[in-house]
Amino acid sequence: MKLLELRGIRVGFGNAPQRVQALRGVDLDIAAGEVLALVGESGSGKSTLARVAMRLQHADEGQVIYGGTDVTGLKGARLRVMRQRIQMVFQDPHSSLDARMTVAQAVEEPLAIHRIFRRAERRARAADLLRKVGMSPGHDDKLPGSLSGGQLQRVAIARSLILSPALLVCDEPVSALDLSVQAQVLNLLLDLQEERALALFFITHDLSVVSEIADRIAVMYLGRIVEIGTRRDMLTNPRHPYTVALLSAASGAWKPAGAEVVLDGDPPSPINPPSGCAFRSRCWRALPICAEVDPVLSGAGTGATHVACHDPVGAGRTHPT
Ligand code: ADP
Ligand code: MG
Repeated sequence: MKLLELRGIRVGFGNAPQRVQALRGVDLDIAAGEVLALVGESGSGKSTLARVAMRLQHADEGQVIYGGTDVTGLKGARLRVMRQRIQMVFQDPHSSLDARMTVAQAVEEPLAIHRIFRRAERRARAADLLRKVGMSPGHDDKLPGSLSGGQLQRVAIARSLILSPALLVCDEPVSALDLSVQAQVLNLLLDLQEERALALFFITHDLSVVSEIADRIAVMYLGRIVEIGTRRDMLTNPRHPYTVALLSAASGAWKPAGAEVVLDGDPPSPINPPSGCAFRSRCWRALPICAEVDPVLSGAGTGATHVACHDPVGAGRTHPT
């Protein structure tokens, strides 16, 4: 069952001629209980897409469909109900938690806001969840200022789960943490995902983080999904040259046989993306058509993944020829 569907999402910031095209027509869906990873360089539009999915950001065009219902224009009480079902974990737990609230209060608060359970029951549930995410009772009355980044992110995760959401949107949830605690927090998220049959929309710039956890991987470039498929297909048979480059750069995750593919330079400006395919200015396989025609994301006849490319990398040909 499709839990969340994003259809033709377009978002721009600012006014012409300096308008940033943050999302240039994104279609994406997430099934109940699925782990979907969204990967792309900084500035490609990942956080904006997460905010659109949460209904925290207005889309200029497109629909947000939750559980089969169009929630794009939802307001008031019905929007609040939807927000119980979709929760978010942010990159920086320092700024996502209120510095004046104790750990236990922070986790309990969503229940109080939504007027669910009496106070004692809320307390008990918050404490249970805090134990579940690995926080000892001694921390319950502490303020965020006295906790480490990893501990804070555990608290933020507990807070995001207290309303028993069906979908957790995680925007770079381990990127701000020390390397040594990244794996712990990642494993915690995965354990909770499995146990609660949560759908996880996992956003990261680091493909090596998701290469072991995702059911499906979507790759984003300059406000577009350029390739999407199952983890296995994406890792063993990437079709888009940008996916190949990302995999090649991800340490240990995947190396193409033979040549190393190196992505030169920065992505082009989202204010004035290249004509045709936005990736062509960095693509080592670009053809004349790539400057003329914007490739659409299509799975027809191209194998297991959906790819937006005029000349996808062929099966078995995983490096430039
Ligand atoms: P990512 O999360 O992949 O790094 P973002 O979604 O944060 O990308 O940003 C996508 C593009 O939109 C970037 O060019 C960024 O500068 C721009 N952008 C994001 N939010 C705003 C905003 N509130 N105002 C203006 N530009 C923004
Ligand atoms: Mg971001």
